[in-house]
Amino acid sequence: EQALLLPYLDAPTRTADGETIGLYCNIFSRETAQKAQSLNADGAGLFRTEFLYTGRPDLPGEEEQMAVYRAALEAMPGKSITFRTMDIGGDKPVESLALEQEQNAFLGYRAIRISLDRPELFRTQLRALLRASMWGQVQILFPMISGVDELRRAKAQLELAKEELRQRGLDFAPHIPVGIMIEVPSAAILADELAREADFFSIGSNDLTQYTLAVDRMNPKVAYLSDPLHPAVLRLMRGTIDAARKAGIPCSVCGELAGMEEAVPVLLSMGLKKFSVSPNRVLAVRRLISQWRP
Ligand code: PEP
Ligand code: MG
Repeated sequence: EQALLLPYLDAPTRTADGETIGLYCNIFSRETAQKAQSLNADGAGLFRTEFLYTGRPDLPGEEEQMAVYRAALEAMPGKSITFRTMDIGGDKPVESLALEQEQNAFLGYRAIRISLDRPELFRTQLRALLRASMWGQVQILFPMISGVDELRRAKAQLELAKEELRQRGLDFAPHIPVGIMIEVPSAAILADELAREADFFSIGSNDLTQYTLAVDRMNPKVAYLSDPLHPAVLRLMRGTIDAARKAGIPCSVCGELAGMEEAVPVLLSMGLKKFSVSPNRVLAVRRLISQWRP
């Protein structure tokens, strides 16, 4: 299997009829950025930042975070990294925030909801990301967006963070794309409206499946119901991809689905042009794409 994939290490990512497809990696560190680079990924479609907050008694400061983001950017020269702001809470506890146990953790206080409720915490991360943009192509991605108002509020915090840096005389890149995860059904349903205010979409098939099918992604008893290729999930994804195309913004899938053998042809058929997968799926997905023709 490994030997079969070797030819795909240096090959461009193209379908059998010659269309170029973006193939990105899901990463979380300098090491995983290096791995993505060694696989000739086009960039990182998802940098999960939650590890910065978990498993420690304190919160990461602006300088510490900036150093982590910068190191990843420097490991992928010339490539973009899409940094997702803290997707904490729910199943990902953060000691220093002393979050309460919740009856319905996945429907509760998590991700962008925490960020908007604690703007100081949020803006520390945003300032670190903005400053890191001096060392590479930064894109900012907001998790768990459920509607237009939430996106506007998150963007307002980003503008405030920029203002804070200007006042401190610190630089950041002038054009930083700001996108959203499409992983809550309401966001997929409103994709056409959200596409007017987001620079790109990234479909989180893991959560989109969980929320669309009402199946807890952590509960083994109902795991048999968790099907990211369920027609209801596919319909939401197709609507999202269509809305992005009509609005002229890029759309990727960054959930596990994007790396699944049986899913790649389906996603290509729906018009998906960007995949973001874990490093260990890059070569297999590149091969699957190269075998596909419309
Ligand atoms: C997703 O929900 O599909 C996703 C990519 O995010 P995470 O798995 O980190 O929730
Ligand atoms: Mg998710």
